[in-house]
Amino acid sequence: MTGYVLRIERGLGCDGPGLRTTVVLKGCPLRCSWCDTPESHRIEPELMFREDCCVRCFECFDDCKLGAISEADGRPIVDHGVCRWCGDCADGCSTNARLQVGSVMTESRVLQEIERDSLLYRESGGGVTFSGGEPLLQAEFLLRLLEGCRALGIHTIVDTCGAAAFQAIERVADVADLIRYDLKHLDDDRHRRLTGTTNREILDNLCGLALRNAAVRVRFPLVPGVNDDLSHVRRLAQFVASLGISDIDVLPYRAVAAGRYESLGRANPSARVPEPGPDTVAEVVRVMADCGLSAAVVDRRPNGV
Ligand code: SF4
Ligand code: SF4
Repeated sequence: MTGYVLRIERGLGCDGPGLRTTVVLKGCPLRCSWCDTPESHRIEPELMFREDCCVRCFECFDDCKLGAISEADGRPIVDHGVCRWCGDCADGCSTNARLQVGSVMTESRVLQEIERDSLLYRESGGGVTFSGGEPLLQAEFLLRLLEGCRALGIHTIVDTCGAAAFQAIERVADVADLIRYDLKHLDDDRHRRLTGTTNREILDNLCGLALRNAAVRVRFPLVPGVNDDLSHVRRLAQFVASLGISDIDVLPYRAVAAGRYESLGRANPSARVPEPGPDTVAEVVRVMADCGLSAAVVDRRPNGV
């Protein structure tokens, strides 16, 4: 079986317990206005352009059989309406100014990559984290990888936004050691405006997992102007506590995505979103504690391109 993989990062100490390999799967049903991994949105491989690496050799003009690349102001510009992400121009670019992000990989190839660090996982108490994008968008592929890891005795974590059929989430919860579940906003209207998707299924799925006593850790991405209003934080914390969950991770927004949107030729919707200051983070933790939740602040700047 094959799946779409954005990247595989090895030896990470910031993505769960111990040292871990993170398998980032491509494709996401949400379009969060503060997303820091826009290259994960589409499920298929995509093309990125790093202007600072381009030496204006214009070799890529000839590499593109579709004529999607032309010159404008002395720069090689891709017409994203014509480009079919074949990667030929990236293969031919000697300076890596053009990069194809994402690839189609077989399940056995991904498992081989994972297995390379088995000793590291054992010695550090680590394992594998499946992230995205939304890994449940490729539920069957994810399940095969989880089953492979289980057969190898490797600890697994799955990061999800919860926007998936409950049947799929339930099956994943049966095989994974931990589900890390993002809750972004409690109000459906606001959630739709911020992410393009209803939160009804997300909230229902979390209730379903809690009822099954699945191993779930809720995560709250804290984004100023989006969900940091303390009355909203209180309602969200009360909702989580009402499910019998006592711990939560708070993930302060970090503005790291600007170059990525530019490299993809897209406008950055988070251009004016500020990072939360320490006082805001402390207030959110205090409000959550008032509601009976023990909140851990997890500050993770993403790696990769
Ligand atoms: S082949 Fe690479 S370095 Fe040459 S013009 Fe194209 S993007 Fe720039
Ligand atoms: S990825 Fe393929 S179709 Fe797109 S610009 Fe490059 S060569 Fe052309």
